[in-house]
Amino acid sequence: MITNYKNLLLLIEDVFKLNLMVEKKYRRVLLKFSGEQLSGDFDGGIDPKICTWLANEIKPVLKHDVEIIIMVGGGNFARGQRLAGNGIKRVTADHIGMLGTLMNALAMTDIFESEGIPTRCLSNIFATQVAEQFIHRLANKHLEKKRVIIVAGGIGRPYITTDTAAVSLALELDCQIVMKATKFDGVYDKDPERYAEALKIKKLSHKKALSNNNIKIMDKAAIGLAMDHNLPIIIFEAMKKQNILNTVMGKTSGSIIA
Ligand code: UDP
Repeated sequence: MITNYKNLLLLIEDVFKLNLMVEKKYRRVLLKFSGEQLSGDFDGGIDPKICTWLANEIKPVLKHDVEIIIMVGGGNFARGQRLAGNGIKRVTADHIGMLGTLMNALAMTDIFESEGIPTRCLSNIFATQVAEQFIHRLANKHLEKKRVIIVAGGIGRPYITTDTAAVSLALELDCQIVMKATKFDGVYDKDPERYAEALKIKKLSHKKALSNNNIKIMDKAAIGLAMDHNLPIIIFEAMKKQNILNTVMGKTSGSIIA
């Protein structure tokens, strides 16, 4: 009886605190984090504090019954394009890059679980000793059971980045949106890091994002694939409190490419 009363109080608190009565905008979302974001203030590698922070930002989203797929990059360890050369073949360099994404995904999975979020790491490169193989049906099963899935290895093929892999995976798993986390809260008409006068573009078409060479926030291949299949992309700042939740609820402060 006391437990029921306590649970009721907790639920009422949730309703007020998290606005549970407000309907979410998206049922299934793909969140893309770059490797660089996971390294936080470090020069490379993973800063566990960042993953813990992200886990706590994702918890309130899960309370709204939103299914979450995370595609994680590997740039904090290696990027194929940069690593290739001096005897290292591009394909091998991309393999190394994919292994970087696997290291991030493994660490993130553990941290999410330690924060109480049921999470599974699925790998698109064969790594059966350390992660489950990505299989379409298995991924759907985990999502239906309300587990967060973290996908490693991009889509497992060289010559593409995790941006393009994110769009491909979002299409495969029927996501309604790709949410790409960046350090800026949206798309700017030029690089905001270099130009103080850069202006934020709140909404733009895939076509405009593709044709404007100053817009480099996401790979053109990723935008092109999303355009071909009418998949919207939101560019937003993940390290801002409640930004993930607000975006899922349709109140993003980021930019939408649609
Ligand atoms: N990569 C790949 N195929 C994929 C995804 C990634 O070959 O499907 C490689 C590629 O070399 C890439 C690296 O993995 O540079 C790390 O991914 P990315 O550069 O997208 O990481 P981020 O910049 O998001 O941290």
